[in-house]
Amino acid sequence: MIVIKNLNKAYRTATNTVTALENINLEIQKGDIFGIIGFSGAGKSTLIRCLNRLEEPDSGSIEIEGRIITELNHKELQQARQKIGMIFQQFNLLDAKTVFENIAFPLKVAGHSKPYIRQRVREMLELVGLPDKENAYPSQLSGGQKQRVGIARALVNNPDVLLCDEATSALDPQTTHSILELLQDINRKLNLTIVLITHELDVLQHICRNMAVIENGRIVERGSVDKFFLNP
Ligand code: ADP
Ligand code: ADP
Repeated sequence: MIVIKNLNKAYRTATNTVTALENINLEIQKGDIFGIIGFSGAGKSTLIRCLNRLEEPDSGSIEIEGRIITELNHKELQQARQKIGMIFQQFNLLDAKTVFENIAFPLKVAGHSKPYIRQRVREMLELVGLPDKENAYPSQLSGGQKQRVGIARALVNNPDVLLCDEATSALDPQTTHSILELLQDINRKLNLTIVLITHELDVLQHICRNMAVIENGRIVERGSVDKFFLNP
């Protein structure tokens, strides 16, 4: 389970302060697919990036599967991040490395043995449907294939949660559909909690069970996706 309490975040520049998140409170159950939707500038990206402290909140707390993320020191955070997978709109793969090396990278950081790494990367490639691409470079892959590699890399350390930062926004509708189907399949198989941000209702409606609407840094609506689409 993820528990966010009284989370605040502002960006300060020399000339002004932009409030990005204002007193966010949210609970996300284990195994849920939880969507956070809002227009551009609403605070979605800031919120999801606070969950692994790619952004540092100003105040408030975040707990993921019993671990208080907001209280960890640098070293503890490095450890905790192995259990928080993330995928990105622009995939963020290492272009000079092969698919195999990209997926192996988090395992190397975690200090696993070579035989384990080899076996685990192959398992992941199987899971995302790219068993024959281990020696390809990212530039040789389609957008959908790149995101599959991103998913494999995010899951390789068997995380408690997968964070998806506009993960399908760079993809065409058909590819979006297949990536969402894959995420749903993984959610079912692994009972993996998925948190995603999107500006697209279609994405939310396609795979999320629960959702929150964010507007100007505040949660303005929340509940089950079914309920939301029945009583707009
Ligand atoms: P409403 O129908 O009033 O919009 P819900 O029935 O969705 O609200 O929720 C009832 C209460 O539980 C509200 O106070 C809401 O803030 C809280 N709540 C619902 N979902 C969540 C959640 N995921 N995290 C934290 N609080 C929630
Ligand atoms: P969204 O993901 O919903 O588009 P963001 O979290 O990116 O929203 O942004 C929320 C608000 O914070 C916006 O007003 C945005 O302009 C501002 N913001 C985001 N990142 C920065 C930054 N690094 N410096 C200053 N302001 C920022």
